Amino acid sequence: MMELRDLYQSLIIDHNKHPRNFYQLEDATVSARGNNPLCGDQLTLYLKIENNQIKKVSFLGVGCAISIASASLMTESLQDIKKDEALHLFHKIHTMLTQDVPHESLGKLDALAGVRAYPARVKCATLSWHTLVAALENTNQIATTE
Ligand code: ZN
Repeated sequence: MMELRDLYQSLIIDHNKHPRNFYQLEDATVSARGNNPLCGDQLTLYLKIENNQIKKVSFLGVGCAISIASASLMTESLQDIKKDEALHLFHKIHTMLTQDVPHESLGKLDALAGVRAYPARVKCATLSWHTLVAALENTNQIATTE
């Protein structure tokens, strides 16, 4: 039987090789750029938000496998949820990646949990999520996060 860890690893490899929602959203209402100079990861996140609901989400970027896979997994989990649910999810992910405490299962996003053991890579995994918060908080502007 396939180990759970192997399954997570293959999810990350798959999402890095074939990132989901990897294009520029033409009718985005907000976007933000994220930059992780420690690793060289850069991405731009596009969101179409109507009535506080995320209708569409996409991203473009270059970076390591963890940063691309994390962004790809994130776009899948944000479709058709409310802005405050997205922020709530950010806090859960941030806790999972930075604190050594038991966390509830976040479905496919659990694939990122293994990164916690590698502090240098945590910023790679959280980059897209910080960029999400920047996009949600800076309506109609392009923000750069470090
Ligand atoms: Zn990276």
